Amino acid sequence: MKKEVYLSLGIPEEVYLLGEKAEKSLKDRFARADEISEINQLKVLSAMQKNHVNAGCLVGTNGYGHDDIGRDTLERVYADVFRTEAAVVRPHITCGTHALAVALSANLLPGDELLSPVGKPYDTLEEVIGIRDAACSLKEYGVTYRQVDLLPDGSFDWEGIKNAINEKTKLVTIQRSKGYQMRPSFSVSQIGELIAFIKNIKPSVTVMVDNCYGEFTEETEPSEVGADMIVGSLIKNPGGGLAPTGGYIAGTKKCIDRCHYRLSAPGVGQDVGASLGVLTNLYQGFFLSPTVTAGALKGALFASALYEALGFRCVPAAAEERHDIIQSIELRSKDAMCAFCDGIQSAAPVDSYFTPVPEPIPGYADEVIMAAGAFVQGSSIELSADGPIREPYAIYFQGGLTWNHAKYGLLLSLAKMYEKGLVTPEQIKNASEKF
Ligand SMILES: *Cc1c(COP(=O)(O)O)cnc(C)c1O
Repeated sequence: MKKEVYLSLGIPEEVYLLGEKAEKSLKDRFARADEISEINQLKVLSAMQKNHVNAGCLVGTNGYGHDDIGRDTLERVYADVFRTEAAVVRPHITCGTHALAVALSANLLPGDELLSPVGKPYDTLEEVIGIRDAACSLKEYGVTYRQVDLLPDGSFDWEGIKNAINEKTKLVTIQRSKGYQMRPSFSVSQIGELIAFIKNIKPSVTVMVDNCYGEFTEETEPSEVGADMIVGSLIKNPGGGLAPTGGYIAGTKKCIDRCHYRLSAPGVGQDVGASLGVLTNLYQGFFLSPTVTAGALKGALFASALYEALGFRCVPAAAEERHDIIQSIELRSKDAMCAFCDGIQSAAPVDSYFTPVPEPIPGYADEVIMAAGAFVQGSSIELSADGPIREPYAIYFQGGLTWNHAKYGLLLSLAKMYEKGLVTPEQIKNASEKF
């Protein structure tokens, strides 16, 4: 019965059978993903109970949003789950880049230096920082930037980092997930080690972790190993697929107060900001997030098992530990990226009949192809794939509100590549023998 359903939905039999083998090989990994989600589920649940989330919290306010109990309580729930003193969680944060820009500009002043000890930051931050010239960049405001690249094997350049810290160094930014790079994503424990090293050299430094795509993929978060701020987007993991918009910053009261002032206005801070009608979705999405994230992790594990067996380089490799929900696959050509994305798009519940094409996107230097047929526009906790059209033609795959959907999307991506001759019958046959 199951096989017939897949065949009737465009999956060739050999692709389906390969998928079944790949899935079977992942039994233990899937069990571990479920265990992490179980722990995080209880964390979120107990924070909601402790903070007395009640029906009144779900209503929302308009106008100035003074005394918005639901908004203030949600911020306390986030702070408790992430083990921080405070948090900003607002629909007024338009995206992850905005949340990061707020956290940075609130905590850096003219004459300060920003340091990235983990190489180039995410593409859109280049303009925020001023690595690429942009109006209102930190550079325009007199904040300098220094970067220490990772060593060729993806590890930290301890000596280089030590040498880069100076009297101006005020804030250190660490990106947990790889972004559009082929470097590894960092574990919470690696991040903790890096923070300890840096704070040992200069205790007064503020450390911010770009936590995008990392939330709930491990048992702990970077805020539990010394980060002063962790930052992310609500249309990624912590929104659980239900948050329609928004971002969060969780951290020390000192840093978060400044973020509130930067986001609204100095002197006004956190007391304003009407939550309108979105609070139910923000609460319910956060509640579902550990389970949804586990589904996305299973999709990533399945993608790497499948495509690595077919001979494509995957980061992380199939056998590696996961620290985010992103799976990159080096597809080695623009055509293969387009076919892969066509499969993901065709598997979507919304806009399934559209064909994704590469296009210039504000904030990115190269053309980008994006496949997503999401209930929330651009949501990348929903099944999606994207990537800049440049060497090594790597596609970044993520999300899936359910594991079943992620599996179907990945099988359809392979079916599309197979149809176009970008994956050969020999490759499928050889891959089958590897499981
Ligand atoms: C998604 C992401 C961001 C922010 O992106 P937005 O599209 O602005 O939400 C920043 N850093 C990393 C590592 C990301 O994955």
